[in-house]
Amino acid sequence: MSFSSLGLSPALLQAISARGYLTPTPVQTAAIPDILRGGDVLAAAQTGSGKTAAFALPLLQFLQEAPAEKPRRLRVLILVPTRELAQQTAETIRTLAQACPSSLKIAALFGGVSINPQMMDLRGGADLVVATPGRLLDLIEHNALSLSSVASLVLDEADRLLDMGFADEITRILALLPTRRQSLFFSATFPTAVHALAARMLHQPTRIAV
Ligand code: AMP
Repeated sequence: MSFSSLGLSPALLQAISARGYLTPTPVQTAAIPDILRGGDVLAAAQTGSGKTAAFALPLLQFLQEAPAEKPRRLRVLILVPTRELAQQTAETIRTLAQACPSSLKIAALFGGVSINPQMMDLRGGADLVVATPGRLLDLIEHNALSLSSVASLVLDEADRLLDMGFADEITRILALLPTRRQSLFFSATFPTAVHALAARMLHQPTRIAV
């Protein structure tokens, strides 16, 4: 299997080879075509499986195909459990987005630091946000962003999101999202609470276990 057979654009294929990725990992091979088709995905994937690029590449392609409006409206929301993962995920996505012809605004939002620089960063809008749940809700309460135009939602490391006590925040965030959207769910483990959250969030998902 090669990246070029997965349906990705030439710009993204260039970004992939610039990163030194030669062949797609199993989760990438399984998830990318389904995500490009706009379907929901439920993936059992560990850290190190290449899951970040598995959701980032098709979502960047989607952002590229529907060019940004001015002001930018948030179209992709990625929820992660920790500040470190928010920073690391945003950095990976920025690198992959460099080859895209239209410049995308990618924001990382996380707690434990002052909210003001993040509010400043959101002026003029963002196309894609990687956020921890609590800080995302704080920023929404400050009217720094709205979720009403989100077309794709990713829950990354869903088991850790629940372990860290974010169940209530996730419920509040889901209520602010359009009901018609794509949802992608990644978790390393599937205890009952994780299954229940997936069942609540996903519509006829493709199941991937790698
Ligand atoms: P992740 O599971 O998303 O945390 O990715 C784990 C590591 O694998 C990261 O350092 C990625 O840069 C790297 N990676 C992702 N996809 C590939 C690929 N297709 N080939 C080689 N390395 C990759």
